[in-house]
Amino acid sequence: MSVEFFRDIAKPVVSGFGITARRLKHRKVTVMYPEVKREQYPRTRWRHVLKRYDNGLEKCIGCSLCAGACPARCIYVEAAENTDEERYSAGERYAVRYEINMIRCIFCGYCQDACPTGAIVLQKDFELADYKRESFIYTKERLLEPLPQVV
Ligand code: SF4
Ligand code: SF4
Repeated sequence: MSVEFFRDIAKPVVSGFGITARRLKHRKVTVMYPEVKREQYPRTRWRHVLKRYDNGLEKCIGCSLCAGACPARCIYVEAAENTDEERYSAGERYAVRYEINMIRCIFCGYCQDACPTGAIVLQKDFELADYKRESFIYTKERLLEPLPQVV
């Protein structure tokens, strides 16, 4: 093997293996997703949830401030009056229809900041992929957290 061959071909290859070998000592930055999931940062903002009070009443009062604050115009709220016989929220009104178009959402969190009752909260669930466009319209039924367990 000539000296020229070593200089032109073999030396860079050996040098490359050297870099790889040195990296083997470093801590891995990758994880085996989806089996392993990284801990999310405390202020991570992903999927929205409509919250309830401890007594089960919905926090949302259908005021539409979230829809007004949304820069992507992806929230639709339709309000209705609570009655003594049928009460859903603690306020005079509740959201009879609440929808978020998750394709348009940019996860800015402005809706959460604008909400006067803390009803809409962006949480840490980031696995939002789906196959159908219709599946990205998150209805109130999908967004509302379950009723608290009675013990
Ligand atoms: S996170 Fe931002 S873009 Fe998404 S619904 Fe809320 S205000 Fe709109
Ligand atoms: S989520 Fe909050 S801001 Fe939006 S309609 Fe309900 S109460 Fe109003």
